[in-house]
Amino acid sequence: MATERLYQKDVYLKEADLTVSEVREHKGRIQVACGSTLFFPEGGGQPCDLGTLGGAAVLDVKEDKETGTVWHTVADAAGFEPGRTVHAVLDWTRRFDHMQMHCGEHILSGRFHEMYGVENRGFHMGEDYMTIDMAAPDGSPITEEMIRAAELAANEVVWADVPVTTIWFDTAEQAKSQPVRKEIKFGEDISVVFIGDPAHPADCCACCGTHPATSGQVGLISVLKAENYKGMTRMTIKAGRYALLESVLRSKIASQLAQKYSCEVITLVERESANDAKNDEVRRELSELKSALAKAEEEKLREALPGFDGSLAVFRYPLMSADDLQSMARKAEDIFTKPAALYSEKDKTVVLATPGTPAAGQLVKEYAGMYGGKGGGSKTLARAIFSKKVDAELFMDLIEKHLR
Ligand SMILES: [Zn+2]
Repeated sequence: MATERLYQKDVYLKEADLTVSEVREHKGRIQVACGSTLFFPEGGGQPCDLGTLGGAAVLDVKEDKETGTVWHTVADAAGFEPGRTVHAVLDWTRRFDHMQMHCGEHILSGRFHEMYGVENRGFHMGEDYMTIDMAAPDGSPITEEMIRAAELAANEVVWADVPVTTIWFDTAEQAKSQPVRKEIKFGEDISVVFIGDPAHPADCCACCGTHPATSGQVGLISVLKAENYKGMTRMTIKAGRYALLESVLRSKIASQLAQKYSCEVITLVERESANDAKNDEVRRELSELKSALAKAEEEKLREALPGFDGSLAVFRYPLMSADDLQSMARKAEDIFTKPAALYSEKDKTVVLATPGTPAAGQLVKEYAGMYGGKGGGSKTLARAIFSKKVDAELFMDLIEKHLR
């Protein structure tokens, strides 16, 4: 049996006594239908209402499109039987958030359409945001200037606090005679939402969702992001309470950054650019110093290695990274006429360089694993990475003994 929708008569109804008409188990969940309901079922891109029914939490509300029955999925089956009266309470904060968002979407889409002929081709309502996929019929791009102008115009409609009216039409023909922004695709019992005077509306669109009675209740419409999506522009939008919360959050983050940089919020970007330039300079200096250090260490190796007569020459580096050691060894391959271990203490990594026999990569592969190390490399250059310094030392000791 089709459920009477109380929210269509009074969208501000927050509590009501409902009469249970059916109770069923559906896919392992308890579902209750009543003769009437104040819960909006999921539809038209708007999530369902939540709240309590007969004291039980309402987990989901869906409409059976064939019968028009609205099914409330409840957390607890107790107390529900046909004919019984149960008290329903709406989660009003959630519902009003949805009303602000849905109406905000109408107003913004209406402005884009009137100002630029831009069409709303896809809509999604998330927990606290919406996305609208907008496109111009000729495929021309939607610019930042257009977005800001439509956003301002939409907020002007909010400030004008015009009435929001839903008018029901029996047939699609009657509904289509209205200045609707989007083509009407369904057959009968069509609700058309007008923002402002129905004779000259700021927006007119067929919609089954819930909307506040006046545009002023939307509070604020804010376009947060615009990105390319399948040839359209996907805009992330917030409206009402969530638009305010987003603004508060962004302001807080901007203030924290401004405090960190000891500047005003308005000069943050400038300050950040100056900081980037400074960082680039520091990076350049560091790179020059590292090159000079590598060059000096390479010279030391060149002097020390020829005179060395053990099986493995070990050199320890407290500051140089394994990457730096490996690149130094690669550049000076001719030095390693004898096997050498270049040990980066900070990375707990041994860079092993040999003339090719014995093969460096093979040595790492065979012995590093014994001390929990991993790595590998070529015949002349390989690295073994350890998690403890003592393991790296034991590994070098083992290689030294093995090569004796
Ligand atoms: Zn709507």
